[in-house]
Amino acid sequence: MSSVLIRNVRIFDGETLLAGERWVRIEGDRIAAMGEGAPTASHADRVIDGAGRTLMPGMVEAHAHLTWGSSVEKIYHQFILPEDELKVAAWRNARILLDHGFTSAYSAGALVDGIEVELARAIKAGDTPGPRLVPSTLERSPEGAEGVETGDVFNGRGAEAIRKFVAYCKEQGIGSLKLVVSGEDALKPGSAGDVLYTEEEMEAAGEAAREAGLWIATHAYYPEAIALALKAGARIIYHASYADEAAADAMIAARDTTFYAPSPGVSIAALEATPPPHIDMSHMKKSAAERMELETKLVPALKARGMRILIGGDYGFPFNPNGRNARDLQIFVDHFGYTPAEALKAATALGGELMDLEIGRVKQGWLADLLLVDGDPTQDVSILQDKNRIAMIMKGGALYKAPAEVAV
Ligand SMILES: [Zn+2]
Repeated sequence: MSSVLIRNVRIFDGETLLAGERWVRIEGDRIAAMGEGAPTASHADRVIDGAGRTLMPGMVEAHAHLTWGSSVEKIYHQFILPEDELKVAAWRNARILLDHGFTSAYSAGALVDGIEVELARAIKAGDTPGPRLVPSTLERSPEGAEGVETGDVFNGRGAEAIRKFVAYCKEQGIGSLKLVVSGEDALKPGSAGDVLYTEEEMEAAGEAAREAGLWIATHAYYPEAIALALKAGARIIYHASYADEAAADAMIAARDTTFYAPSPGVSIAALEATPPPHIDMSHMKKSAAERMELETKLVPALKARGMRILIGGDYGFPFNPNGRNARDLQIFVDHFGYTPAEALKAATALGGELMDLEIGRVKQGWLADLLLVDGDPTQDVSILQDKNRIAMIMKGGALYKAPAEVAV
């Protein structure tokens, strides 16, 4: 088993910055030992001198859209891409997330069926670089409320159609299915208040997903949609901007099993965007301003009551490209009253809990998904937006990016 010793580092362990100079020893894919001061036994296959930098867990993107093509390396002005180009974009986006310190990603839905399962397998096999990925399939939104019971897997109404969808997802090999419970203003202005599923359908989704061992991710804005998401036992609720007191209470009651990711990245980016004249973002901007105002009150209130709130901001639009994902941490600090350490915990320890893996903490026995950061992110999380400040990226004990100075 290969071993790596990382010495002369400060450690943010997923919760707090540990005092003093530290070291960590990795054997195989796990953290075998860690300690203070100089390491007692310094032999290892590889020794990395951290030079006083900060060692922290790899970050977790809780709302990933790898098939939304745009990234910091390439902007696409059309949302739907030809299938071969889409695959190139998704593979590239996975690599870009890892380049920026995201060693895990939970998919919030794909634009094409099947692609994320293939990508997750390729990453796992080491055929292509990327984060540990909980793959999803097409985001499911049924036909209009008056829709007929078509039984169609992706759009059909009724409990039976939902059960078929879950069975289909299971067969495809996905990890989490995505249900669009609320309408989306960005796609259809004024539709955020629409509720796209019935109680019966959501109950069926919850039951079938539990039986199949799949997770459910939900797009939900208003109390009724949040209640339905909770009814289905959603693992994660996105947005929830218009939650009232009762909806907040219901989320808190489910806080041991349900996570929350407000996804402010896309709202802030929409507010800042200066689109060309032929693209009208005025409605999107108005809705983003309204949601940010509400979330500025909602998120701190839920956090104070113990809700596990995660970063992840719908990256992948031309105005909000993949690769900027760490911006969410700064937004949590600037708009939601988080300390830098709390934002880091949301991106690491809590993200690890979402993934249900022993990741997100620098802890003996846990998987070695680690970053070596130039500077102290517990004072300033904005440094994580600069990939050049991430000197080392390790996933499962394997060095994806190694610092320049390696002592032997
Ligand atoms: Zn999304």
